[in-house]
Amino acid sequence: MICFTPRNKYYTRSRVYSPVRIGGIMAATAVKKLYVLLCGFEVLPLGVSIRGSDNRIIVAEPICAYLAETEIGWVLFDTGIDASRIHDPVLAQTYYIDRGWTTLPVVHPAHSLTGQLEEIGVRPEDIHQVVLSHMHVDHTGYLKLFRHAKIIAQRAEHHYALHTPPELGNIIEDYNLPELDWQLIEGDCELMPGIQLISTPGHTPGHQSALISLPSGTRLVLTFDAGDFLQNFEQNLLPGSASDDAQALASILRLKQLAGEPGSMLFPLHDPGFIQTAKLAPLYYD
Ligand SMILES: [Zn+2]
Repeated sequence: MICFTPRNKYYTRSRVYSPVRIGGIMAATAVKKLYVLLCGFEVLPLGVSIRGSDNRIIVAEPICAYLAETEIGWVLFDTGIDASRIHDPVLAQTYYIDRGWTTLPVVHPAHSLTGQLEEIGVRPEDIHQVVLSHMHVDHTGYLKLFRHAKIIAQRAEHHYALHTPPELGNIIEDYNLPELDWQLIEGDCELMPGIQLISTPGHTPGHQSALISLPSGTRLVLTFDAGDFLQNFEQNLLPGSASDDAQALASILRLKQLAGEPGSMLFPLHDPGFIQTAKLAPLYYD
């Protein structure tokens, strides 16, 4: 496994982390708070998220990014969807309608990534690490704002996204930017105490999820698109699209097992019901 080395400047600063209890074991976390940034909605047939569903059923699925305040700086997980390509009719035609989207994503001013960061008191330049779960359009939209930061993704995802022709789910212009400072990893990786990146391929070849240990002792299992809804995990249901079905199911089972450990909870990204009960920024989990 290739992961971070002690050369990572953010990792090597010596700090005292808050002790927390995870699964009966005292552990340390550098995480202070986790914010949920609601960046818009996608209007999709149910079959996009749950394999084999009746596609007459249309659902509005939230698009989220997460911001972690840690002892060693701000970490952003995913970057939402670029609203300019939705609101400009020519770009919307090119990037969405011509690629088979039947309904455009919905991004209102209140969903602005930078607006929500500003409300917390954070500027994009304050964020020095951006973790990408994978490189679909609803996760890479505002990478362009983080050319100064380390962009952390699985090597397999990066390779796949750069070498796959434009399709329904990817906008290569979001991430094929020469200035981006990629930090490519392979497999599971401890980003810092309290933030564990977990390789969960299947939805895409290099999809990853994250475990966030909060000061309270709760551990959030951020599932991203390994399974869009809680239902995917409750009933072991494959996502609508997968690069590898067997891997996708194994990733669902792995995340479910991690969420079953004491003090842990599944935290889905696209679940329309879950988002209504979640604390949204500027509220936070701690
Ligand atoms: Zn996806």
